[in-house]
Amino acid sequence: MAPIKTEAIVLKKHNFRETSVILSLYTENAGKIKCILKGVRAEKSKIPPLAFTPGAYIHASVYLKQNSELNLLSSPSLLQYYDLGYKKNLIGWRLILNIVDLFTPEREKDENIFSLLRETSEILAASANPEVIFVAFKIKFIKILGYGIELSRCVVCRKESKAYMFSGKLGGLICEECKSKDPQRSNILKKVINVMQQMDRMDIKKCRIIKHIPVEILHKINFYANITLNYHSEIDKIWWSNEKNIL
Ligand SMILES: [Zn+2]
Repeated sequence: MAPIKTEAIVLKKHNFRETSVILSLYTENAGKIKCILKGVRAEKSKIPPLAFTPGAYIHASVYLKQNSELNLLSSPSLLQYYDLGYKKNLIGWRLILNIVDLFTPEREKDENIFSLLRETSEILAASANPEVIFVAFKIKFIKILGYGIELSRCVVCRKESKAYMFSGKLGGLICEECKSKDPQRSNILKKVINVMQQMDRMDIKKCRIIKHIPVEILHKINFYANITLNYHSEIDKIWWSNEKNIL
């Protein structure tokens, strides 16, 4: 079978046997796929290590396997590797790669996720507020996945209300009358809703102009994003524990 040629972002890498690596890639043409790349840890390998380092933007030829989830990657070439020199920017980028790896289905092409990843890497490389970009990324990622987040009205009755609570299960705001639909609902402040709405409306590229958001508000938004994501996941470990390094 002929390989597919695609651009991709390396999400994850681990060493395999003596000289190979197994990569998780988010590809433009096939969504998230797992690949083996053979022989690249051998001394004679001509493939530069950056071409299979998490975070790298590469061009790849992939032989998709019919009966295995492990595909074959051959001769990746590096298109771009963003130098995320500031420690927090790099932490944010790694957390984002991990979230995409955890929450996207295998082999489901989604150009919106691919371009969100590309754009996020570009602005993270130049951002003085990586924690803002990190949280804004999550809001947009959740929307692409279709899990919410409804921020302009009650997600159940669709009516506008003066005060709301937040439901991760239902994916958005719930009003007083509908709150019994989610016993695990959380309180949410109007000022937090306002910032979330702003992030939701803005293109991720524009989020770099958001200068400063108090960290306690970012914490809250991140919490609402996480309970929304978590409701849809079957991951039994605490996948967000490393996020304390950025927020
Ligand atoms: Zn309602």
